[in-house]
Amino acid sequence: MSRGYDVVIIGAGSIGIPAGWAMGRAGLKVLVIDRFASFGQGSNKSAIGGIRATHSDPAKIRLGMRSLEIVSTWEETHGHNIEWVKGGYSFVAYRKEEEDTLKALLVTQHAYGLNIDWYGKEELLEIIPSLNPDGLIGGTFSPDDGHCSPLLLSYAMYDEAVKGGVEFRFREKVIGIDAPEGRIRAVRTDKGRYEAKIVLNAAGGWANEVGNLLGIEHPVSPESHEGGITEPVARFLSPMVVDIRPAPGSANYYFFQHRTGQIVFCITPDPPIPGFDRRETSAFLPMVSRRMVDLMPKLINLRVRRTWRGLYPMSPDGSPLVGWSREVEGYLLAIGMCGQGFMLSPGLGELLARMVTRNELSSEDREILDILSPYRPFKKEEALK
Ligand SMILES: Cc1cc2nc3c(=O)[nH]c(=O)nc-3n(C[C@H](O)[C@H](O)[C@H](O)COP(=O)(O)OP(=O)(O)OC[C@H]3O[C@@H](n4cnc5c(N)ncnc54)[C@H](O)[C@@H]3O)c2cc1C
Repeated sequence: MSRGYDVVIIGAGSIGIPAGWAMGRAGLKVLVIDRFASFGQGSNKSAIGGIRATHSDPAKIRLGMRSLEIVSTWEETHGHNIEWVKGGYSFVAYRKEEEDTLKALLVTQHAYGLNIDWYGKEELLEIIPSLNPDGLIGGTFSPDDGHCSPLLLSYAMYDEAVKGGVEFRFREKVIGIDAPEGRIRAVRTDKGRYEAKIVLNAAGGWANEVGNLLGIEHPVSPESHEGGITEPVARFLSPMVVDIRPAPGSANYYFFQHRTGQIVFCITPDPPIPGFDRRETSAFLPMVSRRMVDLMPKLINLRVRRTWRGLYPMSPDGSPLVGWSREVEGYLLAIGMCGQGFMLSPGLGELLARMVTRNELSSEDREILDILSPYRPFKKEEALK
């Protein structure tokens, strides 16, 4: 049996849920399909929940700022507690290289209206007293950034989407997309066929597999990243702290204190670990804890409760691919989210809804789509990817 929708979204993850919510609000008949048993079981549940507008490229700054507006007002607007904390983000510098990089980025960040500044050593220590003062030069601090629970935000948006009439089908794998004469007509799963003239690929690390169903290659491939959480302790840390110094085995790492006291942390492995492996390793914890204790010595006696591993859907330059396919009419891409799919997704979901409803796009929207075009040359690397 075939059923008809305005849009079928492949993937109920960080992108698919807010996109479904926003499209449902725009009055569209939407179906979201996921192969797993519930929403968020891909990369979404692996995210540690950081949400920032502090990026180096204008598209991500704009999407991040809108996402922060949605997330920071979610509870008063919709009523769900998503554990939002406006603790800010701090990128710290212990070497001139990072100082120069971070200060150079401020020019673009200020031009796009981001609330961020450089703080010298003593000022930064007032914001984050527990940073190791030895060698600290200073860092940026963006007070409007923060974090919330990926689980709770995804549930909240799913809940609102369902109330708004959006349909979800779980445990269904998309195995085919019908596009006769280069036009989307239907999506086939292992359980049914759903007609629609628009399909959104929001399949995260599996985006290329979905593209292949249409004979299209997308330059997106998964990489493994690990995260962890400690036991709870009394609150002593507000911002997400990010250290972008490379070290043997890792490119950077970041951590924050949850409002119930646990430290939640992540590291970016270097060289990267390509593939779909989501089994955690014994190498991750010694590496990340050494770096974190160097940066913040008072973490030394904290006990780690759990680690996990998930996927970053990587693009060649560290920025997402968002836009209409030129090969197949009605095929929309929101893929290659790298390490930022969760933080960009509320704003991106709204933009995708504006695209699908063919509303007049603003000049800001067009600028975002130009920068994130799937057909860009992928020559520049995003500095804070
Ligand atoms: C350790 C770790 C920490 C992170 N921390 C952060 C953070 O603090 N902030 C942040 O913004 N990001 C963070 N990220 C990155 C973030 O998790 C990803 O960027 C984001 O989840 C990607 O969203 P997505 O919707 O593209 O993919 P996903 O959330 O993986 O969703 C894709 C969905 O598509 C479904 N799917 C795929 N193929 C099919 C098919 N054929 N049929 C049906 N369904 C299909 C999958 O089942 C999946 O549910 C982190 C990631 C990791 C691993």
